Amino acid sequence: MERAPTRLDSMLRKLRELGFRITPQRLAVLKVLAESKGHPGAEEIYTVVRKSFPTTTIATVYKTLAVLKSIGEVLELEFSGDYNRYDGKKPYSHPHLICIKCKRIVDPELASLADMTEKLARESGYKLLTHRLDFYGICPRCQKKDNAD
Ligand code: ZN
Ligand code: MN
Repeated sequence: MERAPTRLDSMLRKLRELGFRITPQRLAVLKVLAESKGHPGAEEIYTVVRKSFPTTTIATVYKTLAVLKSIGEVLELEFSGDYNRYDGKKPYSHPHLICIKCKRIVDPELASLADMTEKLARESGYKLLTHRLDFYGICPRCQKKDNAD
């Protein structure tokens, strides 16, 4: 049996279909996005990619992100007063838990949150396209640190 395509496979297939040239640097950016459990910003992606490809520029990272965003292969989370963060694992609207202290962003695993969208569409009559649902707080790790102080 063939293995299910990974996120990286899907990104590559779509980019190739559109005639986008995959340089080793761009591939490295895609890998970080496809494999990162957190929600890295452009600078973080740049730092990781530069370890293997020191000649990579931040412009390459931004350009790759822009292309992925335009074809719906990455979710961009914008914040006023803070840099954008990216989710390449789930390139569609979904809720996020955001720590105001360490800025960690995670995807809550709560089925009732996922069901909410469907219910909301049904009850409101809206054809829902996207949504933004952020929960702000202090993560367990930072709470422990606070108690230790
Ligand atoms: Zn935290
Ligand atoms: Mn996410």
